[in-house]
Amino acid sequence: MDWINVHTHKPGIGINIVDPCLGEVQVPEQGKVYYSKGIHPLFIDGEAEKKIQEIEAAAADRKIVAIGEAGLDRNSETGIERQMELFEQEAAIAARFDLPLIIHVVKAIPELIMVYKKCKEPGKWIIHGFNNRRELLQELLRHGFYISAGRHVMNRESPVYRLLPEVPRERLLLETDNSDYTIEEVYRQVAECRDERAEELQQYVQLNFEKLFRI
Ligand SMILES: [Zn+2]
Repeated sequence: MDWINVHTHKPGIGINIVDPCLGEVQVPEQGKVYYSKGIHPLFIDGEAEKKIQEIEAAAADRKIVAIGEAGLDRNSETGIERQMELFEQEAAIAARFDLPLIIHVVKAIPELIMVYKKCKEPGKWIIHGFNNRRELLQELLRHGFYISAGRHVMNRESPVYRLLPEVPRERLLLETDNSDYTIEEVYRQVAECRDERAEELQQYVQLNFEKLFRI
């Protein structure tokens, strides 16, 4: 069994899906690295159209195994309409190439659902770094989204720590994002929170990973 990390900017042990959007990535000595590519909603600039073309080319050339992180963020300087427009294009690329879509969403879940409903083929949507209310978790699950839990889980007072036992096994993924926790630490914390053995958690997360990613 491997430690599968579906979204990180700082790869380590196990299988890492790395998003280089925060800058230079140090490839670890142990661990495997695969890349994803997207437009982070906090960093939308005048080059966005060009970046969409690059994402599409990378997907066509199989240089990436996922699209993202991409999504919607109310704290972004870019208006939500423009964010939705770009995100819709990225979701369409993900669907066309049958790639998972790694989603960053901050204070914009209703808008995210709107884009989802507009997509002809919504595909495999993963909400990364989930840390929100129960009603929103239920809504995301109802629409078939996967939930990726990461650094917020390390805080026992966080919303996601309390809600984790409610995420069905077949929808759960784990990540480290830009934190300094190891993916093993995240697994151990999540296993404890869900009252499972870490090996059991590894097993079903791996099944989810194999269903979503073609690696
Ligand atoms: Zn990230």
